[in-house]
Amino acid sequence: MSYSGITLALSKGRIFVETLPLLAAAGITPSENPESSRKLIIGTNRADVRLIIVRASDVPTYVQYGAADLGIAGKDVLNEHGGNGLYQPLDLQIARCRMMVAVREGYDYAGQVKQGARIRVATKYVNTARDHFASKGVHIDLIKLYGSMELAPLVGLSDVIVDLVSTGGTLKANDLVAVEHISDISSRLVVNQAALKLKRSLIQPVIDAFSAAVGTRVTA
Ligand code: ATP
Ligand code: MG
Repeated sequence: MSYSGITLALSKGRIFVETLPLLAAAGITPSENPESSRKLIIGTNRADVRLIIVRASDVPTYVQYGAADLGIAGKDVLNEHGGNGLYQPLDLQIARCRMMVAVREGYDYAGQVKQGARIRVATKYVNTARDHFASKGVHIDLIKLYGSMELAPLVGLSDVIVDLVSTGGTLKANDLVAVEHISDISSRLVVNQAALKLKRSLIQPVIDAFSAAVGTRVTA
């Protein structure tokens, strides 16, 4: 079971695709494509580096417990997780989008807020939503969803949604409009702190290569 190399946790889809150039900059080439392979552990051209493919929202958990040494996760996911025990040295500036409040076209969000109305909020990002509305002093009823948040206001499940927006195309297609910007989102490199101490000679070069490829400095 024990693996002496380093394990990087990634989700498939946009994070995997946008991470490939960063891996290349670190001299790492996956030996299989997770989109077509059913394998969850993917080797690379380097015997001391492997990838594990997990659900985007599970990346922080694998890294927190040391089942992966490093991972790449959206700031949205990290905010929900809390980031406990995770070292976040780099903003990779991939999978960029915005966390927004959106409503059905015609819904008077500003008016409702002004009146002090209780607002029904449907979202997958319950911690983010709770913090956001608490900081505005707005009372909400939270409705936890796992996907397709755009539907909720259309069928009367909620007044607003809190969701990620990139082009706005999905909102538009469903007659929704963004009314408030909560935060800018991009993906971060997360590192298990114990692993960094024990395997620094393997992990630090990866951090440095990613950092150089992104063109930013290590921030912590
Ligand atoms: P799943 O699809 O398994 O439910 P997910 O929706 O979190 O999980 P992805 O859609 O691959 O998985 O999103 C991964 C990350 O990419 C998100 O956590 C977020 O940081 C970012 N992301 C999500 N939607 C967009 C978007 N439309 N444009 C850019 N980045 C996005
Ligand atoms: Mg998705």
